[in-house]
Amino acid sequence: MINFKIYFKYVKLKAPPKFRIEKHRVEYREDPLTGDICRINLERAKRPHSYTSDEDVEEIESDENCAFCKKNVLEKTPRFERVMSNKEHIEYNDYLMFPNLYPFAQVHAIGVLSQKHFLPYSKITQREWENAIYTSVMFLKAQAKYSANFLYPSINFNYMMPAGASLVHPHIQIVADETPSNYTKRIIEKAREFHEKNEVNYFKELMLQDKQRGIYQTNDLWFKSKFAPSADRELLGVMLNKSSFYDMDDTDIMALSEGLVKILSAYEKTGVSSLNMSIISAPMCSDEEKNREFDFFNIIIRIIARPKLTENYTADRAFMEVLQDTPVISTMPEDLTEMMRENL
Ligand SMILES: [Zn+2]
Repeated sequence: MINFKIYFKYVKLKAPPKFRIEKHRVEYREDPLTGDICRINLERAKRPHSYTSDEDVEEIESDENCAFCKKNVLEKTPRFERVMSNKEHIEYNDYLMFPNLYPFAQVHAIGVLSQKHFLPYSKITQREWENAIYTSVMFLKAQAKYSANFLYPSINFNYMMPAGASLVHPHIQIVADETPSNYTKRIIEKAREFHEKNEVNYFKELMLQDKQRGIYQTNDLWFKSKFAPSADRELLGVMLNKSSFYDMDDTDIMALSEGLVKILSAYEKTGVSSLNMSIISAPMCSDEEKNREFDFFNIIIRIIARPKLTENYTADRAFMEVLQDTPVISTMPEDLTEMMRENL
C-alpha cells in the first residue's frame, strides 16, 4: 500500500590522483506520501572543506592547497570519462570545466570562474560570466543532443561557506538529470497550468503586472524582488522569450552576463556577502520539436542572500536544497537507524 521507491543512477568519471575510471552511485528516494525526491551520495561526506581546523581560517586568502587554483587544478580534479573534442577538461579562455568528484546528478560538472583564488562575487567580470555561461550552455546542449529523454538542466552558484560552498575559489555547478529537482518539477507544472487556464505566459504576465517590484529590465531580461520570497532577499530574473538553454544565442548570453554583473554588484552594495543562485531552464532533449512543448516556460534566475561569512562554518544547505527544494543526503537512513539504536 505504501510504496518505498528507490532507484539508482551511475556517474562515471576519471578520479584523481590516478585518473582511473570510477563509477559513482547516486540514490534517488521518493517520499511515499508527497512524491518529493531526495538524492543520496555517501561519498559527499568525504568532501574536503576549506575550513577544516582552527588554523585554516587564513585559508581564505591562501591558495596553497586549493584544488581549483591553476597550479593544482589539472592534477587534483577529475576528468571527463567521455571526452568532448578530445579533451578531458573543457576550457574556454580562463574558464575551466571538469566533472564534480561528488556528483548528485547524472550530469554534474564544476566550472571554475576565474584563476583568482579569492574574488568577491561582484568582481566577477562580464567577460568571465560570458565565458562560463557560454561554455556551460554549449556543454548542456551537447548533453541534450545525445539524450533521447528530457534532461532538466541548471547552472548554479554557491558563493562562500554560508551558502554551502566547500571551497573558497569561485566556481559554478552545471547539472542535468532526467529526474527534475522538486522545485523545477513544481514550477514547470504550475506554469503549464497557468498557460492552459489563461492562454498567456506567466512570466510575461508577471513582468507586466508586477511593476512595483521591478529592478532591472532590458529587451532580453528582467529582475524583480520576489513578491512572496522563500528565502531572505530573494530576486527572480527571467530571460524573455527563451524557454531553455537550447534557445540561447551569443546575444542572450551577453545580455544575461551583463545583467548578472549589475545585479550582483548592487546586491553586494546592500551588504550581502554570501549567496546562492540557480539558473533554471526548461527540459531539453535531442528532438527540437519536442523541446517546443515547453514554450510556456522561461529560463529563470533565482538568487537569495545567505548569512555573513563566519569562521569555521559551512552551511549544510546549498543551491539544491535552498533553491531547488531537493535535499542531498550523505547519511543513509538505515545507518542512522542503527546508530540511534546502538546509542539508545
Ligand atoms: Zn584556489
